[in-house]
Amino acid sequence: MTTSFSKKAFGVEAVEPAVTPPPASNVQHSFAKKPKLGSSKARKKEIPEGLWSKCKRCSNLIYDKELDENLKICPHCGYHFAIGSRERINSLVETCSFEEMDADMISVDALKFTGVASYSSKLEGYRKSTGLKDAVITGIGKIFEQRVALGVMDFGFLGGSMGSVVGEKLTRLIETGTEKGLPVVIVSTSGGARMYEGMFSLMQMAKTCGALAYHARQKLPYISVLTDPTTAGVMASYATVGDLIIAEPGAMIGFAGPRVIKDTTQSELPPGFQTAEFLLDRGLLDAIVPRKELKAKLAYYLDFLMAGRKYPAALK
Ligand SMILES: [Zn+2]
Repeated sequence: MTTSFSKKAFGVEAVEPAVTPPPASNVQHSFAKKPKLGSSKARKKEIPEGLWSKCKRCSNLIYDKELDENLKICPHCGYHFAIGSRERINSLVETCSFEEMDADMISVDALKFTGVASYSSKLEGYRKSTGLKDAVITGIGKIFEQRVALGVMDFGFLGGSMGSVVGEKLTRLIETGTEKGLPVVIVSTSGGARMYEGMFSLMQMAKTCGALAYHARQKLPYISVLTDPTTAGVMASYATVGDLIIAEPGAMIGFAGPRVIKDTTQSELPPGFQTAEFLLDRGLLDAIVPRKELKAKLAYYLDFLMAGRKYPAALK
């Protein structure tokens, strides 16, 4: 199944169309009646909005279709653009093998939170713009021959923030993994706990880690995959307690943002601070795996980690 996402849904907010699209006919703009300053001659070529994306690292323009076919990796410099949860799942599991769990679970506005906009209206807006119910998709699928309990977060839905639904869906996923004797793989991308749910979202940190502890008691492996960005409450809970913790190249991973740390410590931060490469050097990560190699590497790791369960007699 494919879902169309807006640019904003992918977090690719710096991308600008080559030509400003005309305003929608049903919207009345106050400047609509002003004479046009730029003549049509200035617009050399009309390029419809949304066909091209600009690479954040090398600034090259990339045809969106080419970017999609390349798993959202820049063909010029290898920069990993954000990828939607459904696209990610399709890139990891065997065709038609994924059985989604708790697909209809949705968040409620228990605190009646209202900031610039109410939490309810934000949820409604993101459901429409992304086609998702919340910031994670969970289910059981096969990576080559190995069945896995797989959870994939989506930064496009409220910054991949962890509220009650994200925590509950992941906990149920992990518990199903424990029950069925399956390894757990969680691909994270998140701005942290969801402030709109206050303490309810913070409780998910303990709940998910508790479920993982029970999973570990059954000697079942958990692989955590960190993608750009994985921060705050998610980084401080289930994302960094994996038996193996791997990351995509260049991913930003940290608890507090660099500006906060710089202001608190009153010192210059080292180059590459909070990048996957920086954390691999310092032992927080076990490996950095490019997106195109992720499926094969996960299969390799899982085969090794599950060997004791597959061939118990050989270990006696
Ligand atoms: Zn690039």
